[in-house]
Amino acid sequence: MATLTGKKALVLGGSRGIGAAIVERLAADGAETTFTYGGSAEAAQALADKTGAKTVQADSADRVAVGKVIADRGALDILVVNAGVGVLGPALELDPKAVDRMIDINVRGPYHAAVDAARQMHDGGRIVIIGSVNGDRMPFPGGAAYALTKSAVQGMVRGLARDFGDRGITVNSVQPGPVNTDLNPEDGPMKELMHSFMAIKRHAQPEEIAGMVAYLVGPEAAIVTGAQHSIDGGFGA
Ligand code: NDP
Repeated sequence: MATLTGKKALVLGGSRGIGAAIVERLAADGAETTFTYGGSAEAAQALADKTGAKTVQADSADRVAVGKVIADRGALDILVVNAGVGVLGPALELDPKAVDRMIDINVRGPYHAAVDAARQMHDGGRIVIIGSVNGDRMPFPGGAAYALTKSAVQGMVRGLARDFGDRGITVNSVQPGPVNTDLNPEDGPMKELMHSFMAIKRHAQPEEIAGMVAYLVGPEAAIVTGAQHSIDGGFGA
């Protein structure tokens, strides 16, 4: 029997990149998996066909829409909030509207989704939010707004772990360093700069991040909560 057989999982933002790898891994580990997507309908459908997961469109900036998806799924065992965007650039030049939308997706979205999911989650459930090593360390200019969203994830993880601990529900964040996705391609212009901060100088592959998520939502991690789990090649060391 696979480790997650009989578990009901929801991944927010699963159509591409790290989220798609998490969907693949949870489905392969036996979870009955649903994932949301924002704009990538074709990629979402292809992933659903490949994995047997269900998919539904929901903008993670819209907490009412995401709340409805969560309510429709009923009692979950696993929530993974992966949807996130990176608005990077000189603070004096960034479009404030883009910054506010990033805060909606990266901060308001995970908080409300975690609370909504916990309302109807089974005891012993698992909540994982994908943060970033930039929640700990922002070693170059242009990342203040993005970093603030990922530092906010740390605070909500610590607090929500306290709120839901009496039900055995764990709340953790996974903090990747550079990962090879559309958001941060391993052959992109930031490659050399990013690798200069790392002990192991390469981008991670999305499947490596999914492996850490699989551990946190699996049976061996019932006592792991309120913590930030970096997987970053030493970027934050
Ligand atoms: P990608 O841009 O490759 O993929 C982002 C995923 O999130 C897509 O499936 C996208 O769906 C979904 N998404 C984004 N915005 C929304 C939205 N408003 N509503 C619903 N879904 C949304 O990013 P990554 O895979 O690289 O990043 C995933 C997470 O990992 C993010 O939280 C990011 O901050 C974090 N991270 C990434 C790092 C990296 O180096 N790649 C490093 C550290 C953290 P769709 O296309 O359908 O809109």
